[in-house]
Amino acid sequence: MSFVTEFNSLPLEALVRKSLSAGSAAVREAAAKEKLSLADFAALISPAGAEHLETLGQRAHAMTQRRFGKVIRLFAPLYVSNECINNCTYCGFSRDNPILRVTLSLEEMRREADALKQQGFRNLLLVAGEHPKFVSNNYLRDCIAALHPEWPSLSLEVGPMETEEYRPLVAAGADGLVVYQETYDRKVYAEMHTSGPKRNFDWRLETPERAYAAGFRRLGISPLYGLADWRYEALSAAAHADYLLRNCWKAALTISTVRIRPCAGEFQALTHITDRELAQLICAIRLTFPDVGIVLSTRETPKLRDGLIKLGVTMMSAGARTEPGGYTGAGRDKIHHTERGLIKQLASGASEWAPVEGHATNATGQFNVADERSPGEVAARIRKLGYEPVWKDWDAALTA
Ligand code: SF4
Repeated sequence: MSFVTEFNSLPLEALVRKSLSAGSAAVREAAAKEKLSLADFAALISPAGAEHLETLGQRAHAMTQRRFGKVIRLFAPLYVSNECINNCTYCGFSRDNPILRVTLSLEEMRREADALKQQGFRNLLLVAGEHPKFVSNNYLRDCIAALHPEWPSLSLEVGPMETEEYRPLVAAGADGLVVYQETYDRKVYAEMHTSGPKRNFDWRLETPERAYAAGFRRLGISPLYGLADWRYEALSAAAHADYLLRNCWKAALTISTVRIRPCAGEFQALTHITDRELAQLICAIRLTFPDVGIVLSTRETPKLRDGLIKLGVTMMSAGARTEPGGYTGAGRDKIHHTERGLIKQLASGASEWAPVEGHATNATGQFNVADERSPGEVAARIRKLGYEPVWKDWDAALTA
């Protein structure tokens, strides 16, 4: 049975109601259990759970140290293209956004990867918008094959594919696939995805299963917090994680907790999860899923990221740029402007082509990062907090 079938029969609305009405006793009882159910998870993310944040934090901290040690794995996203055929209302790369776009050549992509390697990274996440013409499967396979010998850990965050289309990417050396459902609320999903293949909710929801069948051994999931009610999203993601742990058990699973950030298109979040609720959520994920990796991106501020490290985070991006060529300026000479998906020539000297201060390229980013510290600064801070920054994914190192 696929997760879609299971998802359709889940009493998610009832669980949200249960969460909202849970009392302190239910929180204490859930936190004391060895094995937590979805109903226990609902209690932990309840308003009553917020009153127990210190206790939850201590348990999450102890559990994380026992399972993962005092280490934080670092990775960097490498955006190879910001072309996209989808319109996702909350994303800067949406097809109809009039932005500056580029797809890196293999050589340009290598330049970006080399710059990240010099900063210490050995764990890379290749990111691209969904555009079969610019970001074909062969293009992605060639990117992976070019990087694989030097990058022990290579994950993808690209448009969903069929299992058979994933297989050559795994064979070329990709071992991880990240796919965010964005929102598990079907109605909101339909409103947010106004055109393009991403409109198919079920197809996206089954993507981790197809990736697993193709041989990916690291899977990453998350909602994008800020679209639907956060407790509904968190409960859905927890149910999804539970399904993947039962059915794709050979894969290492990570859960992210990404929140909407400012981007081209000026989308404003529809719902809100506070910093404190985010901390509570991370504790609840850790207590419910002791072995799952928890990923924290540069969408959060340095202060919050530093504080969340102790609660259960195991993996962080650092020094991230969300535009292709963002690390070195690679591809800068072929950037083009699009309007409603069509390339438009700008008058030479148009202000959009002017260099952006502090940026290697003026290609448009997917969103504005909130933690602009360099990877070295993030690593130094991690050490100061008593943790060891790890640049290489040890799972890949052990199975290599
Ligand atoms: S979220 Fe992904 S699919 Fe949607 S517009 Fe952005 S890059 Fe394209």
